[in-house]
Amino acid sequence: MKEGVGVNLAYHRDGVTEVSPIRWASVTTPWSSMRFVSGAFCPLCLRKQLYLQRTWDHRLVTSCPKHGVLLIDRCPECGLHLSWNRPGIATCRCGYDLSLSAPVTIDTDATAFVKELATTGDQKVFAALDALFEGLLPILDKVGSLTEQHKLVELAVSGIRRPESLVPLVANYILDNECGGLSVHPRITCLPLLASGNTVVQEFGVLVLRELDLRGWLPASSIEEVPGQTGIREAAALLGLTEDLTKKLVHHNILCGKRNKSGHAWRIENSSLNRLLMDLENRKSVVKDAISVFLYRKIPGPRHSLAEAISDIIAGALVSGGFDLASGLESLTVVAPARKVCAHWDDCVTVAELAERCNVHTENIRFAIKAGVIPAEKRVTNSRRMTVIGVSDAEKFEKDYIFAGSLARQIGASVTNFAEKLMSTGIRPVSGPKVDGGLTYIFLRQDLEALDLGAVAALENYPTRTGRKKLGLAQHTIESTISLAKAAKALGLTVQRTKGLVPKGLLEAAEYGGRALQINRDSFDRLKSMLDDQNLITIDDAAKIVGETRSAFEYRWVHTHLVTVIDLGVRRVIRRECLEEVQRYKRIFITADEAGKLLGSHRSLLPNWERRGLIAPEKVMESKIVGVKLYRRTDFDRLRLLKEYSGPSNEHK
Ligand SMILES: [Zn+2]
Ligand SMILES: [Zn+2]
Repeated sequence: MKEGVGVNLAYHRDGVTEVSPIRWASVTTPWSSMRFVSGAFCPLCLRKQLYLQRTWDHRLVTSCPKHGVLLIDRCPECGLHLSWNRPGIATCRCGYDLSLSAPVTIDTDATAFVKELATTGDQKVFAALDALFEGLLPILDKVGSLTEQHKLVELAVSGIRRPESLVPLVANYILDNECGGLSVHPRITCLPLLASGNTVVQEFGVLVLRELDLRGWLPASSIEEVPGQTGIREAAALLGLTEDLTKKLVHHNILCGKRNKSGHAWRIENSSLNRLLMDLENRKSVVKDAISVFLYRKIPGPRHSLAEAISDIIAGALVSGGFDLASGLESLTVVAPARKVCAHWDDCVTVAELAERCNVHTENIRFAIKAGVIPAEKRVTNSRRMTVIGVSDAEKFEKDYIFAGSLARQIGASVTNFAEKLMSTGIRPVSGPKVDGGLTYIFLRQDLEALDLGAVAALENYPTRTGRKKLGLAQHTIESTISLAKAAKALGLTVQRTKGLVPKGLLEAAEYGGRALQINRDSFDRLKSMLDDQNLITIDDAAKIVGETRSAFEYRWVHTHLVTVIDLGVRRVIRRECLEEVQRYKRIFITADEAGKLLGSHRSLLPNWERRGLIAPEKVMESKIVGVKLYRRTDFDRLRLLKEYSGPSNEHK
């Protein structure tokens, strides 16, 4: 018979397997928290009455409050741990009468606290205390004698009562243990806290990291080899990333890991985790204007995945502003480099190339792609994604369609209001400001075949956007353009910033050689009307309306393509319909973050439930950065009631 099995069987369980949680006093506790291999006892209690108390079976009970003494878990005679297979309750295998052991007086406050929690059934606090004890064990390295364990219980109790008193102690311990800098990254040292199944303990780990950050810890010059391996969930918690992103780091050979034989469970080498974090710390520069590595991929130019960005940082090809110790790699920042991608295929052209061929700004091509006038696809080159247009599609577009502006330039006419002049002859554009909100008008070439374009360009009497009739050349000049300074004033911007809207395609420069820059009135009106459009709302306001920070709003709804952002140069806006869609989603679904906030705990709550098969995400919004899981609110409410009814007793697996 295996040692301890008899004691193990003496308890009720919250499940059917050998490792199901144990019912102890009025609380539930993981089986691993019980002293099933080797027991402990109070020698004075044993002298009085020859039976073993159940309270001694839990590892958090290290003293006897009744007698004010430390428990004993070794035979004072032979020095071995107490075996459950001993000849008698008070007789060691060496024959020693255990009740004769000399008692050691000790402060028993912590044990009294543990017992009170267990008796009153304060499951939440009890589970947190036990999990904190578990998390502190490897960090403070107090695993030896019962005296040390007692000390650790006292620390854990103080950490539960007043975290702010224990945090500096733990930080001190981590810093004092190393001279000449830390050779193991603090996030690795704090892994037992960060990856704890208990949210109180996870948050405690974050507090310790904040404290270390404040103290200004330093990495050692040499990196220590950390033995062992870590599961993917723990590795993700350690890095502060999702499991998917962590796996990607393995695929890119940034982390060393492999799957087990069944191909499901991952094991990541601890040394590779330490090397990655330390490499990033050592390559951190103090830089202005560093941006999030995730946002970095959104700006034009080379596209980086997180893994590629990290590879580049380690290779010295990309400057990093480092990451926040307490939040992990999700806060990694980089400085955008000035590198350009060169990609050439025989069967397609890039947006920039087509724009050059059509003699228009690239934004015009992008809008035409969005409007569905030009078919396009995404391709990957050197691991960068870019939009390309097939050569035959590009040729067909050039053959079938034409931009009003480039047509005007071709025939040497003024670009100003050329589209309006064309439309005044009864021709309808396929895309443009009044058609689909496009930036510029696109016409079908065959519609123009019968026209005398020179005559159209010379038209002076035509309806403009504002519905006025053009009367004479002088007035035409005044009305069809606006000076840069006036435009800036009307938009409430500096001249410099207004000028910057021209290359973005948001304002068109009118072609009047030799004079100060004039803005095409039509493009100005268009931008102004969009800025005044009540149907467009700034992304900041939208985030406020749904009660989220802007970054959370972008992360959940913009990156997942539910909401399209229109960059007006001056401000970034979204359509009200998009906002309503978000509100509709929020009524039906809940995210892991929100669930965590509602219950006042960490966001891992729902993923925990999901792992245990209690709830499944109904919708997963994919994005290039990270998917956002949406859980049905009614499911969540049901589980929440259940949880409140039974307590978080199943928090441990
Ligand atoms: Zn006692
Ligand atoms: Zn003995």
